[in-house]
Parts: sequence; C-alpha cells; structure tokens
Amino acid sequence: MIEVFVGDITELEVDAIVNAASRALAGGGGVDGAIHAAAGPELVRASRALGPIETGSAVITPGFRLPARHVIHAVGPIWHGGRQGEAELLERAYETSFERALGAGDVRSIAFPAISAGVYGYPKESAVEIAVRVMRRHEKEFRRIVACAFDERTGTLYRRELSVRPK
Ligand code: ADP
Repeated sequence: MIEVFVGDITELEVDAIVNAASRALAGGGGVDGAIHAAAGPELVRASRALGPIETGSAVITPGFRLPARHVIHAVGPIWHGGRQGEAELLERAYETSFERALGAGDVRSIAFPAISAGVYGYPKESAVEIAVRVMRRHEKEFRRIVACAFDERTGTLYRRELSVRPK
C-alpha cells in the first residue's frame, strides 16, 4: 500500500525512513538536518563513516533516537536543467533505497521524502512522478510505503500521481 503523509518524516513510526542526503553523508539542511537533529549525534558518526558515496546510491544506518529503526541515506541528483542524467539518477536513488531496505531483512514499512525536490532544485512534478513509479514497482514487497510531503502542495502532487492509472 502506498500512502501520502504531509508532515515531518522524523515523527513517522515506520521501520525505515529515507534521508535525502548529500554525498559526504555528513548531515546538512532540509530533511537531512531534521533527521540528524532527531536521531542524535550518533547518526552523523555512523553515516559519515560510510561516505562519501556516489549520486544515485544509498547506505543504511540505525535510526538511533528516531522512532524508525533504520535510516537509509540516499543521494539524489542536483538539478542542472534535466540533460545531465538527473531523471535516471533520481530513479537510481529510489531503487537503491529499496534495495537497502530489502537487504536489511526486517523492513516492512518505509517512508520517503521528496528526494532532490528541495535545495537540489528538481522540479516537484517530475520528482513526484519518478518517486511514485519506483514505489509502485516495489509495492508488493512492503506492508506500507509512505510518500512523505512536507507541504500540502507536494502532498497534492503525490495524491494526483497515485490516482493516475500506471502506464
Ligand atoms: P534535497 O537536497 O535532496 O533537495 P531537501 O531536504 O532540501 O533535499 O528537500 C527534499 C524534500 O524534503 C523537500 O520537498 C522538502 O520540502 C522536504 N522536507 C524538508 N524537511 C522535511 C521533513 N522534516 N520531513 C519531510 N520532508 C521534509
């Protein structure tokens, strides 16, 4: 089941939350900052030790003080206009996040922020379309997949995309 949640991803009681991380895995602003603030200082130590990683890839750490047991740190592309492989890299970031979740063995519920759709500048409509496409591909492998939006407008984009019959 894919559901839409509008609010703070750090509050979600799911097995894993995905972080829109930077390649250094050293924390930052946006959702990354919120996740590190809520998880506590152990998270930056655990994640930085696994970095740097390539754009489109992802690593998994414990969730420390978060309700979620795991954090999957995925690196989405910076938007440069769309001709530098951004769509493929964003799709890879979602795909590798699912790979890490399945690899953990105990993840039945997972929540994603809109990777790259903040500071990295990816156009929201296209980012949401890619996110939903990959989520649908993995829908049967999880009990719950949560598309977490931080604002109503993004929530509406997810709901609209989910109401469209898959191509
Ligand atoms: P990126 O650098 O990959 O663009 P950002 O953190 O800047 O990552 O933004 C990604 C998305 O996460 C944006 O849509 C932003 O509104 C959203 N966001 C920011 N804070 C949170 C949060 N606490 N919970 C869920 N989503 C968030």
